[in-house]
Amino acid sequence: MRHNGQPVILASSLPPNLISLSERSCTLVACPECGRWKSIKRGMVTPHRGPHVPGADAWPAEFRPSPPRCPGSGQRIRIDLTFEEWRARLAAGCRQAGQRRRTRVMPRPKPPAMRAIVQMAAH
Ligand SMILES: [Zn+2]
Repeated sequence: MRHNGQPVILASSLPPNLISLSERSCTLVACPECGRWKSIKRGMVTPHRGPHVPGADAWPAEFRPSPPRCPGSGQRIRIDLTFEEWRARLAAGCRQAGQRRRTRVMPRPKPPAMRAIVQMAAH
């Protein structure tokens, strides 16, 4: 498999919730193009097919052309984090999210409904 020609993405530059390091199984990463979780083999996102081309729904399922290769296939990812470093980043991110204030909902007054043209003519 060849890489997709895009510059190498460092694991440390990705948000920690878009990558999954594990001591026991392979590293997973959310594909930078389509967002689906894919394993990393030989430093690259495993090849996968992207979303269907627009209009593919019009075809019956048995004749539907398979979606094209996702441009995120073969994206080079360099794992420059240890499992412990990644866990620490993830925990820090969770703490920050917990400290964030929730947004206050400001109800906005609704504009008066427009009269129907028939009602306007009556006045
Ligand atoms: Zn993808």
